[in-house]
Amino acid sequence: MLAAGLSTLWKSRTVAAAADPAINLDELQKNWRVMLAEGVKVPLASEPLKLSKDQWRKRLTPDQFQILREEGTEPPGSSPLNNEKRPGIFACAGCGLPLFTSEMKYESGTGWPSFFTTIPGAFGKTTDYKLILPRTVYHCIRCGGHHGHVFDDGPKPTGQRWCNNGVALKFMPKSAKAAT
Ligand SMILES: [Zn+2]
Repeated sequence: MLAAGLSTLWKSRTVAAAADPAINLDELQKNWRVMLAEGVKVPLASEPLKLSKDQWRKRLTPDQFQILREEGTEPPGSSPLNNEKRPGIFACAGCGLPLFTSEMKYESGTGWPSFFTTIPGAFGKTTDYKLILPRTVYHCIRCGGHHGHVFDDGPKPTGQRWCNNGVALKFMPKSAKAAT
């Protein structure tokens, strides 16, 4: 009887949580691993990857090198990841660190893959003045790779728009089988 009562209580709490965007965001960030394919290993933010420019040049495609290591920006609308809607993880193309889940993505209409939040601790931020007005630029915390800029005109519940170069991302579908 008590167990049944508790289970009903739990269900009603879960429904209440789903209706509250603030709590949803918390769950989304905390439980990002549910979007990871079974058995797939990913690196940790606490395992830095430091390579020389030449080593990066060998490891990355010319486009990836230009964006990740030279702070380039891809042309809007050029990334196939703009239309990626499958459940999964968006990881750093440089080092494989998980950065966003598919649940954090939204259609911003800008032509770049856009997210309203990130996996906690995935990025560091600095300020750039390339367009005179200061912009917040962010980089992968593990390898230092440049990913994009974060703006404050995003949707609820955060109001953030993480505008990311698709070239700098590697999509890992949840349905993928781990390599054996
Ligand atoms: Zn990285």
